[in-house]
Amino acid sequence: MSRYSALQIRKLMGRAISRWTMIEDGDHVLVAVSGGKDSMTLLWNLRERITRIPINYTLTAIHVNPGFNNHSYREVESFFIENNFNYRIIHSNLGEIAHSEENRENPCFLCSRIRRKLIFQTSAEMGCTKIAFAHHKDDVIETFFINVLYGASISTMKPVQEFFNGRLRIIRPLYMVDEETIKRYVSHMGWKPVDLGCPTSGITKRQEIKDMLSSIYRKNKKVKGNIFHALQNVRKDYLP
Ligand code: SF4
Repeated sequence: MSRYSALQIRKLMGRAISRWTMIEDGDHVLVAVSGGKDSMTLLWNLRERITRIPINYTLTAIHVNPGFNNHSYREVESFFIENNFNYRIIHSNLGEIAHSEENRENPCFLCSRIRRKLIFQTSAEMGCTKIAFAHHKDDVIETFFINVLYGASISTMKPVQEFFNGRLRIIRPLYMVDEETIKRYVSHMGWKPVDLGCPTSGITKRQEIKDMLSSIYRKNKKVKGNIFHALQNVRKDYLP
């Protein structure tokens, strides 16, 4: 089963990269690594892929330390050092800002926005051509429901998004991979995801949607695939 999860990730990641032309020869990809299971999996498999394919690209991992404590970034850094990855750590107090009384919105929205801005700035400084995020199939579906229920819009993450007139591209190589497959893979690899110490972790809107969807998936195994397919089968004529 664990070997199967490794093969699944390799296959689906490769399929997404080629279907949406995510990585080209000579790219310098900045990989956003929170220290969670998804980003560790992404970083590892993007490097593993270089050994098997005829195009060459370079990777730099970036971790934005949210500043909830003074040890979580060291654990992420150890993962980079022990496994010989090029990396950058950006220190911030974004956790405090997102949870301050001045912040009138959901902590996760502000936290993600500030983190993304720091990553964009670093990417520009380093001359990176792409930024890779570890969002997977479940994230894509959950974001759709978060946006409908709490953002009053029909939208979700795209596999590739362009910014600054195409000078920067965000890519999501795990777009087609199920979270469950990543969980099995990480357990097989023996990795311990890093706990950032965020007080909001586990009580987010995303968790609420995740729990709702899990109960539906348990009743009918086809539902997840149907939702993912529906996101690529939008019938605009039947929308007001
Ligand atoms: S759970 Fe915490 S660290 Fe994660 S996005 Fe929300 S506020 Fe930021």
